[in-house]
Amino acid sequence: MNKKFKVVFLGCPKNLVDTEHLIGELLEKGFEYSKKGRYVFIQTCAFIKSAIDESYDVISRYVDKKKKGEIDFIGIGGCISLRLGKKIKKDFPEIDLVFHNVDKSSILPDSPRFFLTKGYIYVKISEGCDEKCSFCTIPDIRGKLRSREMEDILQEIRFLLKLGFKEIVLISQSTGQYGKDLYGRPYFKRLLRRIDSIKGDYWIRIMYMHPADIDDELLDIIESSDKIINYMDIPIQHFSAKILKNMRRRGGRKKVLEVIEKIRERFGDNFYIRSELIVGFPGEDEKDFKELIEKLKEYKINRMAIFKYSKEKGTESFNLKEPGAKIIEERFKEVGKLAGRIMRESQKNLIGKKLKVLICEENANFYKGRSEFDAPEVDFEVVIKKNRRLDIPNFYPLKIKNIKRNLDIEGELW
Ligand code: SF4
Repeated sequence: MNKKFKVVFLGCPKNLVDTEHLIGELLEKGFEYSKKGRYVFIQTCAFIKSAIDESYDVISRYVDKKKKGEIDFIGIGGCISLRLGKKIKKDFPEIDLVFHNVDKSSILPDSPRFFLTKGYIYVKISEGCDEKCSFCTIPDIRGKLRSREMEDILQEIRFLLKLGFKEIVLISQSTGQYGKDLYGRPYFKRLLRRIDSIKGDYWIRIMYMHPADIDDELLDIIESSDKIINYMDIPIQHFSAKILKNMRRRGGRKKVLEVIEKIRERFGDNFYIRSELIVGFPGEDEKDFKELIEKLKEYKINRMAIFKYSKEKGTESFNLKEPGAKIIEERFKEVGKLAGRIMRESQKNLIGKKLKVLICEENANFYKGRSEFDAPEVDFEVVIKKNRRLDIPNFYPLKIKNIKRNLDIEGELW
């Protein structure tokens, strides 16, 4: 009888791609994939303390199940195995295996991929990062930048489109730096043009783009394409010049403002920017925080994730003094409220508009999808009442009717 296994996935889309290959590898080894699997593999996340805490919570839950004889085996993979290694076994002696199917020298496991997403698919174009952001553990966990051969990426995308995927989500740790290790300088724009030349009705979405890698040439490529959508995930982290300098963010504030201005000049409101912001970085005083708030009001970001600064061992900023926990909490709440208002406004802008929407899911009464302005799993969704059968995953023209409390939007077929 085949050993049945299940996988518990935590973290980012890069870890999801590694998880899809882990499942492919286990199936190849004759295991059977099942929600009731007694062999449990946990793909962990470890880039900040709260992610490690969440991973530990999940592991201890399964350790309890093992002690009760409900499961037989626990394997720990993902970033905890890269960041903590065997230490995790000291904390949980019940763990049977600590592994990682992507180490600091590889990019993708060479096992087949078992797809966990529908309609959209992540394509990891590189692994690791050569940036020196002073708060970040990723270069230490995932190693130096390693880019895939361009032909390898193009071949995978052609294959995925043949399988019927409608949205290619390009991911890495620092997308704009793609190819710098292989070709001596960043080759992302060249890769983007090559992908864009593959025929078909599908979307290309760009995630994890460092602001310093965005220039007019890239915006020209996006503007002239009917596949590369008017959306980009651009982690800016802060708006204060002093803080961005202390964060060692390449290009600093000048580049952050320049990029948003260029996008707004060229696309107006018809381009949605997603970003990540950190409050409470060491040295952030009232003036820096006020700058963050004022600039956020002025340079509207359409989709945001707000983080509290997390003091991480092995990072350059680890020994720097942070603003007190109470101050960080207050600032986190204040930015969160403002972000909520700005995102609601962005949704209001869509009411009455006709949008091309990728419908990927259905339940008893509704279909669910996303417009080009929403990335999978992190942004908002479009909900449509089920009044006729739709062939999914597929694109449909929708008229946006109204916004729900959770900022998802309701639409009707046009
Ligand atoms: S670019 Fe991103 S992944 Fe790389 S060091 Fe900076 S924050 Fe970390």
